[in-house]
Amino acid sequence: MARVTDALPDRRLLLVHAHPDDEVTGTGAAMAHYAAAGAHVTLVTCTLGEEGEIHVPDLAQLEAAQADQLGGYRVVELERACAALGVTDHRFLGGAGRYRDSGMMGLATNNHPRCFWQADLDEAASHLVKIISEVRPQVMITYDPNGFYGHPDHIQAHRVAMRAAELAGDQGPEKIYWTAMPRRVLAEGMAAFRELDDNPFAGVEDVADLPFGSTDEEIAARIDGTDHYDKKTAAMRAHATQIPDNSWLYGIAGGFGAEFMGVEYFRLAKGERGPASGPHGWESDLFAGLSAARTDPAGP
Ligand SMILES: [Zn+2]
Repeated sequence: MARVTDALPDRRLLLVHAHPDDEVTGTGAAMAHYAAAGAHVTLVTCTLGEEGEIHVPDLAQLEAAQADQLGGYRVVELERACAALGVTDHRFLGGAGRYRDSGMMGLATNNHPRCFWQADLDEAASHLVKIISEVRPQVMITYDPNGFYGHPDHIQAHRVAMRAAELAGDQGPEKIYWTAMPRRVLAEGMAAFRELDDNPFAGVEDVADLPFGSTDEEIAARIDGTDHYDKKTAAMRAHATQIPDNSWLYGIAGGFGAEFMGVEYFRLAKGERGPASGPHGWESDLFAGLSAARTDPAGP
């Protein structure tokens, strides 16, 4: 009997993100890099992002407090973003609309009965286990236990992804990475952006005051997607309701901008670190150390 993955490429990468647009800002360059390299890239988004702010004035009435139609609109933005990144396999956890955006930590929206923060962990994980069993990714990317910066849906995405990997057993990914940003790179960014009108680090005195940031030793992989900087930018443009036209993300100039947006960093949460290079001993490939084609323990 043919295995379900026979029709898929040898290298398969699964990403678990909280809202539409998270895939681009944190992992868009890596997604474009692996899609272009012929790997199968599967994106799972856990909510529709209904509680987001809207930066397009003509669409302002779609917001949760008015028409509450932002989620449906963001389905389309996400499709366009995936197309820009060259990613064809995209799913919503449990189907589009199963889990609602919980909003920022501490808001009343955290108590909505359908919100992701209120989801039953094993039920939510079971939706992901189905996808894992189908795609059999060797590598999975999600957030660290703090959801990178503390948003409840990001924390929940971490919990669901880690639980699903556990429940999938032998079918689960061999390597799990968490998105990360080296403090050293953040410090360089803070210095470079200090003069900007819309400095994203305005009001932050010290890199240690940011809710994220890893030491060089905590980082395991550095993925250079600067060749795909244009795709990442196009994917950001696809999320127009979330990323305003005049965002600093588009305003950063020169080589530092391409480096800041095109290079993405990861911590290794499960699996063995593969062959590495450079002064920090970081991997330059998330599949490093894995055999190209994974053998199915159940046999052909
Ligand atoms: Zn998010």
